[in-house]
Amino acid sequence: MSISGTVTVKNNKYRPKGDFHRIEPNTPIRSADEGWRLLGVTNPREMIYIHSYGGEAPFFEGLGSGKLMATRCDNPKCGMKGTIYQPFRIHCIDCLGKNTVFDMTDLAKKTAKVHTFMVCERSGAFNVLDKPIKFSNIEFDGVPTILMSYLCIGEPKIGMRVVPIFRKVNPTYTILDLSWVPDGTKASALPEGFSF
Ligand SMILES: [Zn+2]
Repeated sequence: MSISGTVTVKNNKYRPKGDFHRIEPNTPIRSADEGWRLLGVTNPREMIYIHSYGGEAPFFEGLGSGKLMATRCDNPKCGMKGTIYQPFRIHCIDCLGKNTVFDMTDLAKKTAKVHTFMVCERSGAFNVLDKPIKFSNIEFDGVPTILMSYLCIGEPKIGMRVVPIFRKVNPTYTILDLSWVPDGTKASALPEGFSF
């Protein structure tokens, strides 16, 4: 049986509702080599982790509606004014001022390229992506930072033009709502729930 808990924020306070942690019966770990002597125990635990996005929430909210949100330093006193940050950075790393949130979806559709990539045949715990995973670093014209994401159709090549796709049906509100496909991919070829 899985646990279920939900959280809402009201009057600026987190309000958890439901089950957030459950302890299950443990089992002994015994040695088959040494007369089944006791070596330890397993400790099954189920828990729900409450992950606050803070100032990065607009990025994750945007993905489900097909928008790639970025930030930009608009501080006139900053030596790096106008710098665009993707991944989404709340504060400018040069002047430490608060960045402006803006929609860079069009820029991504027109200029995104594979900067470099790696193909992973194995993955860690809780992976939900199909293997091999084609992790791709995505670059954009005029953006000095590189976005880590993955290509879900085709084979990545350095310099290859790609376009973003978004999980607009049943979004997860995580980075899994964003993926990339080669420019020119037909809408009918996209994974279930995803669209341009
Ligand atoms: Zn700045």
